Amino acid sequence: MAPSTTSGARVVALANQKGGVAKTTSVASLGAAFAECGRNVLLVDLDPQACLTFSLGVDPDDVETSVNEVLLGRAEVSDAVIRCDDGFDLLPSVIDLAGAEAMLLPRPGREYVLRTALEASRAAYDVILLDCSPSLGVITLNALTAADALIVPMPCEMLSHRGVGQLLDTVADVQKILNRDLEVWGVLPTLFDGRSRHAHEVLADVGARYELSVLEPPIPKTVRFAEAPAIGRSILATARSSKGAEAYRQVAASLLERL
Ligand code: ADP
Ligand code: MG
Repeated sequence: MAPSTTSGARVVALANQKGGVAKTTSVASLGAAFAECGRNVLLVDLDPQACLTFSLGVDPDDVETSVNEVLLGRAEVSDAVIRCDDGFDLLPSVIDLAGAEAMLLPRPGREYVLRTALEASRAAYDVILLDCSPSLGVITLNALTAADALIVPMPCEMLSHRGVGQLLDTVADVQKILNRDLEVWGVLPTLFDGRSRHAHEVLADVGARYELSVLEPPIPKTVRFAEAPAIGRSILATARSSKGAEAYRQVAASLLERL
């Protein structure tokens, strides 16, 4: 992998315009796994539904300075970050991030505001993970423009890869116009049922079909993931030695050398 052109953190976006594919779960879990390895980690909640913020025990209604103010140039990242018990920092969202999307639209250079805002914070972190909303709107374009790399979480279920082609078309446009250096690190298979032959077939097919790397191991489907957000911690804390936590640790370990 080419080293980052800017010193400091590698910025990695987790994006897929489908909802429910484990973007948010993967951001929290990989963030916790990188933190366990001693890395300085920042997670950015770019979803107006604020699920990442909420799942880490922060009530979006109590957030005074959010990613919203940062995107609109009214606050620095460092003014808005919250330290979480999992050992990483969070740039929280609030429910009206949808308003930020609308306010950004008429602005020149609107795709670059996140990249610019993160510049001052890159030196403070080793890795910055961007949790995207289920859309390909201007905030997701900001994420792809700010990112060094993209991971596409994808459940190993029939039809779950529909839409991946559209995402990759957007990525190709971003690489042409907005961010030449964006690397696609690959698909992260999620919600994987190892007993299902179909899941194995989807897993085998998706890499070849889209000429994408498939990160390993796949993240198993387990009920332990449903419990973690209610406790306000990632699964690495709520179910330390579960198969799901272990899988995320292994994926994180495989990515460490690229950071
Ligand atoms: P997204 O951010 O893509 O919308 P989420 O991370 O919010 O997806 O996950 C959607 C739902 O799936 C959540 O209820 C989450 O708890 C659950 N989930 C995520 N990963 C797993 C898994 N490996 N096993 C079981 N449930 C999971
Ligand atoms: Mg989400």
